Amino acid sequence: MGQGERRRLINEGRIAQVNTTTEYFLGDALGSVRQLTDATGEIMYASAYDPYGVTTQAYGASQTSYGFTGEFTDPSGMVYLRARYYMPGDGRFITRDTWMGDYDSPLSLNRWMYVEGNPVNRVDPTGMCWVDILGTNIWIPDQSTVCKYTNYPDKNDFAKLFGITFVNQWDTNDLEAARRAAILVGEKFMSSGVGSDPVQAFRQVYGIHGSQTMLFTWNPSCTMCKPGYCRPDGNANGKDYSIDDPNILIPLLDGTREQCDCLPKGGYTHGERSIEFASLWPKYTSHGTSIQMLRKTNNIIHELGHAFNHRAYQYPENKVASYYEIVNHEPFYLTNRSHGFYVDQYGTMTWVQSTQTSGSEIFADMFIGWVHGKWANDAYGTVRKNFMNINMPSWITNAVGKP
Ligand SMILES: [Zn+2]
Repeated sequence: MGQGERRRLINEGRIAQVNTTTEYFLGDALGSVRQLTDATGEIMYASAYDPYGVTTQAYGASQTSYGFTGEFTDPSGMVYLRARYYMPGDGRFITRDTWMGDYDSPLSLNRWMYVEGNPVNRVDPTGMCWVDILGTNIWIPDQSTVCKYTNYPDKNDFAKLFGITFVNQWDTNDLEAARRAAILVGEKFMSSGVGSDPVQAFRQVYGIHGSQTMLFTWNPSCTMCKPGYCRPDGNANGKDYSIDDPNILIPLLDGTREQCDCLPKGGYTHGERSIEFASLWPKYTSHGTSIQMLRKTNNIIHELGHAFNHRAYQYPENKVASYYEIVNHEPFYLTNRSHGFYVDQYGTMTWVQSTQTSGSEIFADMFIGWVHGKWANDAYGTVRKNFMNINMPSWITNAVGKP
C-alpha cells in the first residue's frame, strides 16, 4: 500500500458517525473511542480497554467499528492499522513488519511486537512506526517504508522537525514544554485526519512549508504579553498571578491583598506563525514539577490556539463570539469562564490561561481542552466539548487549505 493510500485512510477522521442520528466519538489520550454521544452530549455507548487494547467493558445500545486508538476494529477484534492488522489479545501484529528495525534500538528488531511493548504512551497509526504521545522519542514514517528514529531533547532536531525557530535564549524546561505542546497539538491534528504523523499534521495545519517557519520568540520585556488584569491563581499561597496595573491589589486567599509585581507574563501571538513569550505562566508557582510542566505546556498550547485561530481566518473566535450573543442571558454557555473547563487538583488554572471574555481568549483556552480531550465533567463541560468537536473539523480544513 503506497504512502498516498495510507494517508487517505488516515484522513477519514473519526469525528462523528451517522446511523439514524449523528453520534460523536469521544476519545482518550491515545485516541481510543471511549464513548459515543449524541448531539446533546448524551452517552450512547461506552467502552474500556486494557493497555494492549482488549475491550474489557462495553455498554450502550449504540455500536461503533472504531475502538482502540480510534482505529477500525473488525468483528473478530483485530485492529486495522493500515500496513498491518494488530491483535489486541496477543499484543502483537498478525504479520511481520516490512521495516527491518534499527540495530541501535533492539526492541525495534522484533517485527511482530506492538509499539515495542509500551502501549500506554504509544500509538501506531501506520502499522509500521510508533508515535510516543508524550515521551522523549518518536518514530516518524518517512516517504518509503523506513521508520526514522528521532530523539529530540536536542532543541535543533526538534525545532527543525516541526519547523519552529526558537529566537533568543530558551531554558531547558521551557523548551521541553514547547516540545510537548507541539507533539500534543500535532498528534491531535493527526487524529483529526491531517497527515500521517504529528509533525506532518502540525506543519500542514500551520502552513509551515519549505523554508517557512514558526517563530517562538523569548522576550521577557514583551509588552503585549501583559494580560488585562491581575488575578490570583487559587493555589495555596495565592502568590501566582498575572500582572498588569501596579495600583491593583491582588486579593490573596488568606483575605489580605498584595500589590502586583508588574512583570509581563505569558505570551502574545502575532499571527499564524509568530508567538512571543515573556514567561511561561506561572513562573513562580510553589506547585510540584509535573504540574508546572503541564501548565507551561498548556500556556504554549493556548498560544498555538491563537495561532490556529489566525490560520483559520478568525472563524473560531467569531463563532465563539456569535455563540455568546445568541445565549447572552444563559450564563452557563461558552462565555462564562467559571464553568466547563477541566478541573485538576489545583483548580482550573492549569486549563484556563486567561480570564478575558473575548472570543479569541475563550477559544484559545478551549483549544487546550480540545487538544487534551479534557473538560469539566458536567453539562457546561459537555457544551464546550461538543462545540469544539463539532466545529474544529471544518476549521482544520480551512487552515490546511489556506495558501
Ligand atoms: Zn491568550
